[in-house]
Amino acid sequence: MKSWLSVPADSPFPVQNLPYGVFSQGDEPPRVGVAVGDFVLDLAPLAAAEGLDGGHVFEEPSLNPFLALGRPAWTAVRAWLLELVTHEGYRDLVESHLVDRADVTLHLPFEVADYVDFYSSRHHAENVGRIFRPDAEPLTPNWLHQPLAYHGRSGTVVVSGTGVVRPRGQRKSADDPAPTYGPSERLDVEAEVGFVVGVPSRLGEPVPVEAFRDHVFGVCLVNDWSARDLQAWEYVPLGPFLGKSFATSVSPWVVPLDALEPARVAPPEQEPPVLPYLRSAEPWGLDLALEVAWNGHVVSRPPFASMYWTAPQQLAQQTLNCASLRTGDLFASGTVSGPEADQRGSLLELSWNGQQPVRLADGSQRTFLEDGDEVVVSGWAPGADGVRIGLGEVRGRVLPARGGQPDGAPAGQLPAAGQRPGGPPPPG
Ligand code: CA
Repeated sequence: MKSWLSVPADSPFPVQNLPYGVFSQGDEPPRVGVAVGDFVLDLAPLAAAEGLDGGHVFEEPSLNPFLALGRPAWTAVRAWLLELVTHEGYRDLVESHLVDRADVTLHLPFEVADYVDFYSSRHHAENVGRIFRPDAEPLTPNWLHQPLAYHGRSGTVVVSGTGVVRPRGQRKSADDPAPTYGPSERLDVEAEVGFVVGVPSRLGEPVPVEAFRDHVFGVCLVNDWSARDLQAWEYVPLGPFLGKSFATSVSPWVVPLDALEPARVAPPEQEPPVLPYLRSAEPWGLDLALEVAWNGHVVSRPPFASMYWTAPQQLAQQTLNCASLRTGDLFASGTVSGPEADQRGSLLELSWNGQQPVRLADGSQRTFLEDGDEVVVSGWAPGADGVRIGLGEVRGRVLPARGGQPDGAPAGQLPAAGQRPGGPPPPG
């Protein structure tokens, strides 16, 4: 595909990508843009100048109104954009609406409706099983029969670059006689891929695997921050709660499924065979290469193509009971871990529950995250014409714990007024 627009060869955003986000400059209100090369294409004035039908959706501070329009509109806008960036005749018009990407602030790209996080990497699930239940089968009996998930907290989904305050909570190790309260000492990341729902479904009607492209607009990167000590003490019997709900970071650019067509591959064979509602004639594995960098040092390269359950199966599963979808729903894949030790998508696995410290570029050794640590998850897919389609990155830095009750205070005891809001310093 030839374009008059010059895109650096190593850019994640060639003209074959055209991911959508929400940006602002200075005091201007946030609005919808498309990333291309080193620029953001300011869609609202461009659509107005061209008299594009429904173009007002690009004036909004979130992608939701555009997402709600559905696949015919997504396809038409993408075709229009491709024409603009490939036909020399549009050059003057388009150039007047290109903004330097370095000069913009990126916002949460969509208003997150419901948030569900799956557990769909067999390698990850087996690793976690071996770590926490060494004397049992690594996979629980249900795992090979249905994609498992938990419902997360949509209100704490934040955009890349947002600092993550170390959560406080209750924890109790096997050796502790009683639970204590304080900042998490086992703060972790989970490198994941998120799927963004555009078109809602009706309550009372399941969404079949075949309807995936009708409902799902595109893909982003997700970091499901996890406090392992809080999680371990609270998760039986109802699953993840406060150990996960304090923050979930997403990348600012949502890559349309259309840009990922060349990345589609056959997923791993599913044995035993799945129930009919999970069978799909179309291959929906995605050949996405993820990378996890810890303080600038790459510690893992998880391959998304190894995921056992596909996104259409996850969509069918979350609506199997006739629960409805909403515009802005986010469902994440679960931690992406490949078969190799350097393909694990969490520090829990990379450090094998803290028993095998990870060495960073500066020679320091880590098991879990320290205050000030920064983690960046990035991702790429093979694109049309041999280019690489970048998913961009999701970046987050750990901020020290704040507020809360004094560490170790017995339940029900309020802190003295003078001790708020900072509380005593975290141990160690
Ligand atoms: Ca997760």
